[in-house]
Amino acid sequence: MATLALKVDIDTYQGFTEGLPNIIRILGRRGLKSSFFVSFGPDRSGLALVQLLRPRFLWKMLRTNAPSTYGLKTALYGTLLKPPLIGLQFPDAVRQLRDLGHEVACHAWDHRLWQDWLPWMSATAIHAWFGKMVGAYETAIGEKPQAFGAPGWRMDKRVLAEVSHWGFQYVSCTRAHGPFMWAENGLLEIPSNLPCIEEVGLDGVLAALKRNADQTIPQVLPVHTEIEGRGCQRDFEQVLDIIADLGYQVMKIADIARRIDTSHLETRALREGFLPGRAFKCAV
Ligand SMILES: [Zn+2]
Repeated sequence: MATLALKVDIDTYQGFTEGLPNIIRILGRRGLKSSFFVSFGPDRSGLALVQLLRPRFLWKMLRTNAPSTYGLKTALYGTLLKPPLIGLQFPDAVRQLRDLGHEVACHAWDHRLWQDWLPWMSATAIHAWFGKMVGAYETAIGEKPQAFGAPGWRMDKRVLAEVSHWGFQYVSCTRAHGPFMWAENGLLEIPSNLPCIEEVGLDGVLAALKRNADQTIPQVLPVHTEIEGRGCQRDFEQVLDIIADLGYQVMKIADIARRIDTSHLETRALREGFLPGRAFKCAV
C-alpha cells in the first residue's frame, strides 16, 4: 500500500482567512491529518504584478485565471495596499491546527519576496527572513519548528547552508522523484513528487494518483489553501475520494520522515528545472 501525505501550503492572507477553514472542515469530515506549511509574515502578493513583465509568468496567470483565483485585493497587497501579516497575525489559529492533530511547519516569512527575488536577496537578508519566520512559529506553537518547505520550491546553495542552522528534522523544498539526503548539509529531503491542481488540473492530478498507487516511494501531494480551499473545493474532494478509493495510507510528512531509513537514501546536490505549469525554475 502506498503512503501519501498532503502538503498544504498557506501562501496568502486570503488563503489563511478564507481557504484554510474550508480545508480544515473537509479534512476533518474525513478524519485526515495533514502537514500545513505556514507563511507567517506580510502578504505582498502585489509584488507579483512586477512579474507580469516576464512572459512565462504572464502565460501562467492567464491560463489559470489568476485574477479571479487570487482576487483583486490580493493582487494589490504590497503595492497599493499595506500588506497584511499572515500566520503571525493569527497565532491562535496556527496553534489550533496543531491541536487538531495536524503537522505545522515553516513555509515563509515573506512568500512573494522569496518566490520572485531569491537570487537577488543577500545571505544576510535570507538569514533575517529565517529568523522572523522561526520567531513567529515559536510565538504561535511554543516550540522550535521541525520542518521547512521553500516557497515556490525555489532554492539555492546559500539557502542550503542557511537551513542547517535551524535544527530542522527534515525539509521539503523540491519536486524530486523521491526522498534523498542533501549533499550540501546532510538534511533529509521529502519532496512533493505529485503534481498539483494549479499545475495540471484535476484530471492530471487524478491520473498521477492512479499511476503511482503501487509505488513504494512515499507520495506527497502539494495543496494550496488559496486554491483548493477557495475556488477548487469540489476538485479537492474528488482528489481525496480517489486517494481513499486507491487505498493510499494518508499520513503527515513528519511521520514519513520518522519512518524512513535514511541510510539507504541517495545523497545528492541541488538541481533545478522547469515543471509543467510552473512559471519559475524550481528545485527538482
Ligand atoms: Zn507556497
